[in-house]
Amino acid sequence: MKAARFYGANEPLKIEDVPQPQPGPGEVLLAVKAAGLCGTDLHIAVEGTILTATRPITLGHEAAGVVAEAGTGVTNWKAGDRAAAFPNIACGECYACASGREALCLKSRILGVQADGAFAEYLLVPARTLVRLPDSIPFEVGAILTDAVSTAYHAVACRGNVLPSEAVVVIGCGGVGHHGVLWAKQRGAAPIIAVDVSAGARRRAREAGADHALDPAEADVAKSVRALTGGAGADCALEFVGRADTVTTAMKCLKRGGRAVVVGVGPERVALPPLQAFVGSELALVTSLGFHRVDLEKIIGLVAAGEVDVSHSVTEIVSLEQINEALQRLAERKGDPVRVVVRVGEWSPQASATKATRA
Ligand SMILES: [Zn+2]
Ligand SMILES: [Zn+2]
Repeated sequence: MKAARFYGANEPLKIEDVPQPQPGPGEVLLAVKAAGLCGTDLHIAVEGTILTATRPITLGHEAAGVVAEAGTGVTNWKAGDRAAAFPNIACGECYACASGREALCLKSRILGVQADGAFAEYLLVPARTLVRLPDSIPFEVGAILTDAVSTAYHAVACRGNVLPSEAVVVIGCGGVGHHGVLWAKQRGAAPIIAVDVSAGARRRAREAGADHALDPAEADVAKSVRALTGGAGADCALEFVGRADTVTTAMKCLKRGGRAVVVGVGPERVALPPLQAFVGSELALVTSLGFHRVDLEKIIGLVAAGEVDVSHSVTEIVSLEQINEALQRLAERKGDPVRVVVRVGEWSPQASATKATRA
């Protein structure tokens, strides 16, 4: 089968023929139809800031496709079933897995980082990682649900517990943060205040339902948030950047009793407010790591029910052979992409990107 293999940072991925894996007991072979290209792939393949467990390895952790073959003992999947793959091969046995929190698994392996991933004609996964994809959700949308959309959902719904009519600030509205705005809107938050240095990201945040969009280079974000919330501040501030100063800004935006949710990851040390303010205003600072399998199930249900429309988030669809050019454009942020999806095999995507890329 064909696969895009990673040999080393700054080397193009090699599209090569590799043996097609065979499903063992409890495993399923998924014929990949669509696989999302993500910042993580960029960190691995271009920047070299994330190391893979082995080299060469097939990259890609955002997969949707059709079951090709089920191994022995698999009773709930059969050839032809449509599915999206939870990208984290969790052990299923540790205390985190036992409580349904696979993102915190002690022995997890991420597709395309610790195990061969989705930029290939076939993907081998344990059956328990698959989630059913209804016919109404196109493969290219199914693929992006398995990371950027779910990570944002977990932050907004599970960790932020955003409720209707709450004032929400979203700091950093790129790939994940953009969907943070969408989920805040879906949950009825108001007002939603988006913050991003990029004019394109601010425009898209407004389209996704943000009531206001601030450029932190132009405005004092905390002051503006207070002005836009009748002087009170935000109930919840979501941070998708991963820098100390943006976490500080998130905390400064909060009203008394408010909560900041940090999703962004980086090397900097975070400073808490003085305890008089932190405790005295009963502020909360929580973090949000990825998402659990149950989040993906819920999201697929919400998308199928028309609760959110993420089809416009697929801004480009490329073939497996075009993956290196797409990675390069993603690295240069050419055309301000939200999500780029790799189409595997011949089939017709339905998301809005098809209109753009085929025009
Ligand atoms: Zn991803
Ligand atoms: Zn586990």
